[in-house]
Amino acid sequence: MSDAVKQAFADPKRYRNFIDGAFVDASDGATIERESPAHGRLVSIYAAATNGDTEAAISAARGSFDSGAWAYAYAGDRAAVLRAVAQKIRNHVQELALVETLESSKPIGVSRGEVMFAAELWDYAAGQARGLHGDSQNNLGPDMMGMVLREPIGVVGIITPWNFPLLILSERLPFALGAGCSAIVKPSEFTSGTSLMLAQYLAEAGLPKGVCNILAGDGATVGQAIIDSDDVDMVAFTGSSRVGKMAIKASAGNIKKLSLELGGKSPSIVFADCDIDAAIDGVLKAANVNMGECCIAGSRLLVEDSIADAFQAKLAARLEDLKMGDPFDPTSRIGAIINDRQYAQISSYVDIAMQEGATVVCGGDPDAYDGLFFPPTIIADVRPEMRVAREEIFGPVLVMMTFQDRDEAIKLANATDYGLAAYVWTDDLANALYCTRHIKAGRVWVNSALDGFPEMPLGGFKQSGNGRETGRYGIEEYTELKSVHLHMGAQKERWVTDV
Ligand code: NAD
Repeated sequence: MSDAVKQAFADPKRYRNFIDGAFVDASDGATIERESPAHGRLVSIYAAATNGDTEAAISAARGSFDSGAWAYAYAGDRAAVLRAVAQKIRNHVQELALVETLESSKPIGVSRGEVMFAAELWDYAAGQARGLHGDSQNNLGPDMMGMVLREPIGVVGIITPWNFPLLILSERLPFALGAGCSAIVKPSEFTSGTSLMLAQYLAEAGLPKGVCNILAGDGATVGQAIIDSDDVDMVAFTGSSRVGKMAIKASAGNIKKLSLELGGKSPSIVFADCDIDAAIDGVLKAANVNMGECCIAGSRLLVEDSIADAFQAKLAARLEDLKMGDPFDPTSRIGAIINDRQYAQISSYVDIAMQEGATVVCGGDPDAYDGLFFPPTIIADVRPEMRVAREEIFGPVLVMMTFQDRDEAIKLANATDYGLAAYVWTDDLANALYCTRHIKAGRVWVNSALDGFPEMPLGGFKQSGNGRETGRYGIEEYTELKSVHLHMGAQKERWVTDV
């Protein structure tokens, strides 16, 4: 165990909320304690924001937005702040990665990769902030001109889940700030550390006070207050479909805009003509990265019937190479599950699979391990109507089905309520293109798995959500369009005179 980890266990880090530019404890002094899921040791203590604290944060965001100081600032100045934050994230990679792994038990190498990617997102959003512009129309007649302005939407509430804390926040916050919005951020109560550390970097980078407020707290108090508030113009919510549907209902109060990134049950489709070894590694990665606690996990494997038996055998053998263990061991690929509740959910789905008549090929027996470690599991003999084929498990459990031809593969791929991602393995370009056209998903990977770029938008079809984050679409999501009808000289109003 490294000195940094020993120190973290000996002296758990305390975090305060960031409201109107100040770091503050909860007004009633309440805290939330977080233990490392892999070690069962206290690692973080967050101030648990109250309703009053949340109202203060919303009011600070509202005041800062309405003042116009950030919203109307020169985009180059906003971009400079975002770039400075990117640099601060890079300067603190080790510290941030340590906290991510302490709180989530994801392997430390994965945490480092996420933190580096988060920095890239802040840099990319800085460029987008400078590039954001409206449009003009010069074909409206000889004395008319149209201008289409892009304006920041206003105060944005950003609510994030526990699986990729800093990364998911960085897919949203720099784009909202780059567009000129003000924000209130509520990270998951299980992994708030890095979001609260980010507050320090925002302050040091010169973000005006009140423009971004970051609060730890539970969903029912802080999250609910944000989605209910009439002073919030938009909510960017990432999390379960259950809470996403609550956000839709709550948005009716002031007809606020929603950007929702919800659950998934994404297919990995393997055709017989593909590079089998590459597909095996890609399928295993898509299913098991972050212990399968990944919204875009390739958790449904669809294999062409002619190679299914051989593929299953090779896949199960290769799974043995995935080391599960202490997330601070650099050779571990699989760490611990986030909490008892999630662990019980994963376990219960393996039981359901067996009750439904499926077969556990490997893994599946959590009793063989101490603590919250769940072995990567493959379930075969799955039929499309089974619950394990349709519902999100959110753990390292891959369910396998077979198909005879491409039409059946596409039908199976689309046979869930979700549409977040898909993976296609084939050597035939025409086949790949046909599948990408016909699969209903926001992201499709062809012959690769999970590589990400700030330039590419992300979001879901069907019940996986709406709206898009990152890429140029990401910044546009946080804007309103305003049409300006500009007449060259005062127009004689014929509606009144030509009776
Ligand atoms: P969750 O919905 O329980 O919680 C997400 C966030 O919502 C947390 O910050 C939580 O405190 C908050 N929340 C809870 N109740 C609330 C309420 N009543 N009002 C407002 N906010 C509330 O989800 P989770 O357990 O943190 O994450 C797992 C789920 O998130 C999975 O279903 C997964 O698919 C989904 N997810 C989706 C994406 C994506 O990009 N599509 C990314 C990560 C996770």
